[in-house]
Amino acid sequence: MASPRGTVDDSLWLDNARVVPSGSTYVPVDDSATGEEIARVRSATSEDVDRAFDSAARAQRRWAGVSPADRVAVVGKAADILEGMADDLAVTMQAEVGTVASQVRGAQVGLGLTAMRLTAASAFAAITERERIGDSEVVREPAGVVGAITPWNYPLFQVALKVAPSIAAGCGVVLKPAEVAPLTTFLVAEAFAEAGLPAGVLNVVCGSGASVGSAIAGHPRADFVSFTGSVAAGREVAMAAARWGTRTSLELGGKSAAIVLDEDKVRAAVRHTIASCFGNAGQTCAALSRLIVPRHLLDEAEDEVRAALEQVVVGDPFDAASTVGPLASREQRNRVAEHLRVAGQTAGVRTVAAKDVSHLTRGWYAAPTVVVADDPGAPIVQEEVFGPVLAIQPADDEAHAIELAEGTRFGLIARVWTDDDARFERVARRLRVGGVIQSDAPTAWDAPFGGVKDSGYGRERGAYGVEEYLVPKSLQRRG
Ligand code: NAD
Repeated sequence: MASPRGTVDDSLWLDNARVVPSGSTYVPVDDSATGEEIARVRSATSEDVDRAFDSAARAQRRWAGVSPADRVAVVGKAADILEGMADDLAVTMQAEVGTVASQVRGAQVGLGLTAMRLTAASAFAAITERERIGDSEVVREPAGVVGAITPWNYPLFQVALKVAPSIAAGCGVVLKPAEVAPLTTFLVAEAFAEAGLPAGVLNVVCGSGASVGSAIAGHPRADFVSFTGSVAAGREVAMAAARWGTRTSLELGGKSAAIVLDEDKVRAAVRHTIASCFGNAGQTCAALSRLIVPRHLLDEAEDEVRAALEQVVVGDPFDAASTVGPLASREQRNRVAEHLRVAGQTAGVRTVAAKDVSHLTRGWYAAPTVVVADDPGAPIVQEEVFGPVLAIQPADDEAHAIELAEGTRFGLIARVWTDDDARFERVARRLRVGGVIQSDAPTAWDAPFGGVKDSGYGRERGAYGVEEYLVPKSLQRRG
């Protein structure tokens, strides 16, 4: 079993088999480093989406009757099977996303497997939890049939974050991977089948968001729609689902800030934030794309930025020396180029350092760039770039730093650089975001992740991620 290349006609995963969808259009998948087509995937139609929901609805009732321990075991086994395909997964994501060799094992394959295993580790307790309230006992039931729509930036991880908890919880799934990077999803589906998942519990339909995605979001048989992607598409999904009163979860964009409070943390914060912002060429929803530093330390921050950019190597994702690869698609490269063009013309925005990528004449390369933006209203401060572009904002004091951090429509995560635990908590509690991390603390992958404001609602990862796929039911006993 290998991830497909070339013309992929049997792109519909239905009842644990690859079948040919009824559509006659194809979506090309290109190699991010060259722009060459590596696959063309036949799109599903709304009739295929209907078939997938029928299949999921049939299978879900039986799957819900399987013991939670056995359901969770299937998730763990699928992770083990996928680990055996790590080489294929890595090569596929290097090609379709452009993730560099030095990051693909950890940030793509590793994170996907981690998401599955942490879900398996926390799911049993979440599913079997029984709560007593007076004479009632509250138990958890599967939410039903899930429509799952994922983006292209982390093809395995994003799919794992929805499919693993759905399956553990006893739901059926109709999944649509992003059309830019769908190839790893075939391996995921096959791994679950090999792990013993009954036919029909997981179904995969490929195609564009406008046709196939909207057919899932507005499907009358969906009990829950879990979406990760852009704000605009998320709103379309929520509106389509609202037609049937279907519950949704939206994991949307971000413009997350790292805030430097301790004066001796500037250099470490610059290094860490650049790594976060440039990782996966900036195509990470939780990337720290803003750095807020005390104004009197701006020169020191800029020196560190220039030193850090000296070490950035933009190049072929298959070259071991590359630290930043191309963007995933021509459209994304063009969007980032437009953000940089606007930034270059915005008063109060100046470039501190930028890498030259003019020698990279093929593929979807963007120039890693760091700017200082003194105007909090500048587009480069307000808009998610989803590319390797960091905006530094000087702050006059702690209150101003909080005001700047708060000054966008997004609210995903933040980092607060201080050793003072009380100060960390004071500032963290004032930020309207889904999560705050102290200084260089590692990300806890089983802590709940999600947004507020335009970054969406709903939580993924760990036990909170499983709860999204469960509904409470109260059993009222005689007194
Ligand atoms: P996108 O919104 O264009 O596409 C995401 C998915 O939604 C794709 O599968 C696409 O086909 C589908 N889609 C598009 N329009 C749709 C519609 N009208 N109805 C139903 N489905 C539709 O996003 P993208 O360009 O793939 O990903 C980048 C965006 O995703 C960024 O804004 C990024 O911040 C966000 N993102 C958020 C998270 C998070 O967890 N918060 C994670 C990754 C990416």
